[in-house]
Amino acid sequence: MINDTQTGSNAGQCQVTIGFVFDADESDPARELIQWLRQTLLKSLQRDIPNFIWSLRCISRHDFPVGRPQDPLLLLEYGSDIKIEYGLDFTLVYTSHPLLARFDQTVNGVPSTMLETGVVSIARQLDQGGIHAIQLSALGLSRHILGHLFNLEHKETSIMRPREFWNSDEPLDWDEQEKLKINEFLHDIADPRLEETAGAAKTAGLFCLQVLLREGLSLTRDILSFRSWMMVLHLGRFTAATAISIIFMFLSAEAWELGAAITSKWLNPALFTILLLATLSLYFGQNLQAVGRADKMMEQAVRSRIILFGTLLVGMLSFWLSLFAVSLGVIYMLPEIVLSNWAGLTGQPLPMPHFAKIMATFGILASSLGGNLEEEHDLKAVLIYEEET
Ligand SMILES: [Zn+2]
Repeated sequence: MINDTQTGSNAGQCQVTIGFVFDADESDPARELIQWLRQTLLKSLQRDIPNFIWSLRCISRHDFPVGRPQDPLLLLEYGSDIKIEYGLDFTLVYTSHPLLARFDQTVNGVPSTMLETGVVSIARQLDQGGIHAIQLSALGLSRHILGHLFNLEHKETSIMRPREFWNSDEPLDWDEQEKLKINEFLHDIADPRLEETAGAAKTAGLFCLQVLLREGLSLTRDILSFRSWMMVLHLGRFTAATAISIIFMFLSAEAWELGAAITSKWLNPALFTILLLATLSLYFGQNLQAVGRADKMMEQAVRSRIILFGTLLVGMLSFWLSLFAVSLGVIYMLPEIVLSNWAGLTGQPLPMPHFAKIMATFGILASSLGGNLEEEHDLKAVLIYEEET
């Protein structure tokens, strides 16, 4: 955000820029609709959130990704690159093609708070008959997506109500409380970007460290709010690989013998290393380091990467915890005498938490392999998407 302290009339006010990106080859009705959305949103933002100077610009591009249906993930990454290229605060990418649905039945829009970018398909809106209905339904959808980028939660009584079909039914706007929240949120992020300050480090490593120190708290909040622990629910192969490996471990006497030979003293460091390696293998295996790529060092890009890595790490950690709990439960239910014999601990009590720890750790090892078998881009989509609406 640009702190507009030079101009006398708007002393101290911050500028918020939003880009409306679309294909230069878009049809006339689509272009007119996007222009109308830009104007209408600009007017309502100036009226409702007057503490900021709003700058909404249309950006028509010749290098717009092609595809039918369009992959929202590609459009999000494309929009995020444009956001960095033009120094925007938020980007909305518009397409008149339908969107590819990954987790839901149909998709009209996908916001990504992490990338500060949203994708809106106006394909269904353009089919809604009268121009008034088309405009209002597209306005509602755009506000909903923008609301997510402004960190609003879902709410039944405003435009933040989740819907299957986006039509012109009221309410089409945020309520007063939400407008106040948007105001607060924008104030929070109004500091100048690190690369705009004189103290910015010149090397990538130091720059990354500076971002971590400057924004540690807000990064942690973002990582935890991305519901990383829900990650595995969407990933079939990841969970299948883990489940199969754990079942085999449970049924093989050698695994128990091996488990008894591993002492707790080096199990903990090994566990930590395996968690870190599994996260790294998923991070690079799924090409997540390419998210938010930019030629120069940019705070936004570094932030996205830290959040992605942190979310993945927290996701793996919470996955380990659930594997530990399940393993402990299963060990508790199986006949102790058989397991003790397998482990070569005849007559001694079975150290159940120790074995549960080993099972969970091997499970994580398998999951990182399984995660890399996942449909291309699915893991990335789970991490980057806020929702499909
Ligand atoms: Zn939503």
